[in-house]
Amino acid sequence: MSLKAVIAETRAYYCLECGICTGTCPVSRHNPAYSPRAMVEGALLFDEGETLCADDLWSCLTCGTCNLRCPSTVDYTAFMAALRGKARALGREGTCTHAETLTALAALQTVKDFRKPRAWLGEGAKVRTKGSTYYFSGCLPYLDVVFREIGFRGRAVGNASVRLLNAAGIVPAVSEQEVCCGHDSYWTGDAGIVDYFARRNIAAIKKTGAKRVVFSCP
Ligand code: SF4
Ligand code: SF4
Repeated sequence: MSLKAVIAETRAYYCLECGICTGTCPVSRHNPAYSPRAMVEGALLFDEGETLCADDLWSCLTCGTCNLRCPSTVDYTAFMAALRGKARALGREGTCTHAETLTALAALQTVKDFRKPRAWLGEGAKVRTKGSTYYFSGCLPYLDVVFREIGFRGRAVGNASVRLLNAAGIVPAVSEQEVCCGHDSYWTGDAGIVDYFARRNIAAIKKTGAKRVVFSCP
């Protein structure tokens, strides 16, 4: 997609330069040199190369707070994802948080024979291989290790989610073929991996015959 098309699709062209986005942005609060308003303005005024080479392209957390407050409904997070995708195509990448653990975790799941054994759900969680309700856990089982410093217990969340469904009379289907949803990769501009994960997950879910999917993915 051209920069012009990104600007049109995300409504960046309608930016009023009011600065509400910058005033509301947690990154700007931490680093006053960062301004989403200036990023939009730069894309409108400067050439594509300058926009895609800006270090600030990688500062946005894609939290969406500015989207909610923008009076012109500029879709800033979609604007960021599209610009990052273009920058990646030119060989530029930002530095990922958590020492790139989350993107590495996603990349590991692109291995063809990747499997997620059902046993991780633990005791008391009743699941099956086919059924009308599917339980999607995403990267939940692996995040205990990544976020151990804050005491996050993804495995316990998965176990409790399934037991809640069981208590409501539902024994959900799960699949060992399920992979990451690609959330973190998407926001770093890696649309290719997201597409790959979507296809794999859709195939895995369809095989179970499910008609609805329940998520407790963090
Ligand atoms: S809040 Fe919206 S209109 Fe205002 S400067 Fe930011 S992007 Fe532009
Ligand atoms: S989406 Fe990015 S620019 Fe907007 S408020 Fe969040 S961190 Fe700031």
